[in-house]
Parts: sequence; structure tokens; C-alpha cells
Amino acid sequence: MFTKRIKQAGIALLSSLLMAGCSVSPTGERTLLLNSPQQMNAMGSQSFEQMKQKLDIETDARTNRYVQCVADAILMQVPREYGYAPQDWELVVFKDEAVNAFALPGGKMGVYTGMLKLTENQHQLASVIGHEVSHVLAQHGNARMSQQMLTQLGMAAATIALADRVDTRTQQAAILAMGLGVQYGVLLPYSRQHESEADKLGQSLMAQAGFDPREAVTLWQNMAQKGNAQPPELLSTHPAPGTRIRQLDAQVEAYMPLYQQALAQGRRPECDQFKPR
Ligand SMILES: [Zn+2]
Repeated sequence: MFTKRIKQAGIALLSSLLMAGCSVSPTGERTLLLNSPQQMNAMGSQSFEQMKQKLDIETDARTNRYVQCVADAILMQVPREYGYAPQDWELVVFKDEAVNAFALPGGKMGVYTGMLKLTENQHQLASVIGHEVSHVLAQHGNARMSQQMLTQLGMAAATIALADRVDTRTQQAAILAMGLGVQYGVLLPYSRQHESEADKLGQSLMAQAGFDPREAVTLWQNMAQKGNAQPPELLSTHPAPGTRIRQLDAQVEAYMPLYQQALAQGRRPECDQFKPR
């Protein structure tokens, strides 16, 4: 009786969460968002403050000007419906050898100096920044957290359902199997979907800003060459570079007209003059 009531309450809770949170992503995929943008922005800002305390910040004016120049050109092209104006973004260059860059909800962006060494020109840096900004615009952080919340709820519900029927060892084995199922079947495909969505949106943003979309392909080729000991594709949260490179290459044709249009309209960023050597 007791477990039945819990199950009913659980189902009611789940369906109300699903109804409240279902929305459609920029490329038209159904997505579940359980946190409010305000909650996500607060978490983004908090994490960013922690990173600023933990990592060294690059103060070289020229380097900062270079990254800001590329970021501004991209941010100017973000459609207003996403709710971010270019001046809403805070950009920090971290003095760190890691080949890394990230963007967080609330308009926070970090680029590592290691990434500046890998990227050969403004176009390649634009493809990285475009990709990271796109994760924020498409609310991938929220979607990912929502998926995890749902998984935890589902596992808790299943544990309760099993509790009155089987012994502890069987129960544990079942939970373990569910954990694996969750890892292979639910969470990772979403992440790969997010990566490919961020690649699409990012490559279109860079082209609209007047950066050459073909350079996104070169960047990932360079990244693949540098990244030794690639994790197996199945377990990786990022698609294997081969898959990503093929996708980006296939998309070049679609985005070249945007690039040519940008050039014709005078959007020709000249950030490379500040690139640190
Ligand atoms: Zn990504």
C-alpha cells in the first residue's frame, strides 16, 4: 500500500516535470529543461567566480584584445531571441597551457592561452568560441542536468519498486545494470547530439561574423593530431574527431554563402593583427 502510493506520487511528479520542462532546441530537437534560466545563470556565475580564483588570469593587453576582438564579432551575430546582448558577456583569458575554452550560462566565457597556441588564426579561434557560445544559447547545460535529475529520479523509483519483492543482492545487481544502461543508452547520445548541435550553430555564427567556416575543419584536424590517446568513441562525451571533422566538412557548403554574404556586407574581422606570437 505504502509503496503503491509512493509510486503513484512518483509518476505524478515525473509527468508534471516532463510537462513543465519540454521544449525544442535551436536545431529542432525535443529537449527537457527542468531548471529555470535564472537558476542556470546563477550556477554559471558561481562556477566562473571559482575558476577566476583558481586559475591564473592573462593580463597581457594584446592577447586580451585579440580574444575580445574575435568574441565580439561572434557575439554581434547572436540572434536577439536568445536573450544575450554582446555586452552581457564577460570574457576572461586564463593563463594555462591546457587546450581549452568554455562558456557558461549567464554569459561567462573562458579561453585558455593553450588554446591560443593551438589555433593558427582568428578563424580557428572563432570556431572554438562559436562552438562554446552555442552550447549556452542552446541551453545544453540545463538539458544535461535535467537528464541527470530524471535518471536519478528513475533509479530511486525503480529501487522502491523492487524493494518489497527481491533480496538485496538481486536489487543491487539490478541497480548496477540500470546504471550501465543509463550510461550507454541515455546520457551519452544526448551529449553527442549536443556536440553536433553546437558545431552546427557555431559554424553558422562564425560564417555570419565573417570568419571562414572551412577553418573549423582545419582546427579539429589539428586538435586530433595533437590529442594523443583518444578515448574510445563509445565512452567519449565528445564525438571522435573523425566524426566531427566529417560533419563540419559536410556543413561547409551550407555556410559558405553566409560567409560570402558577410564579406560582401563588410564584416571582415581583423583580429589577427593582435594575435600573440
Ligand atoms: Zn562542445
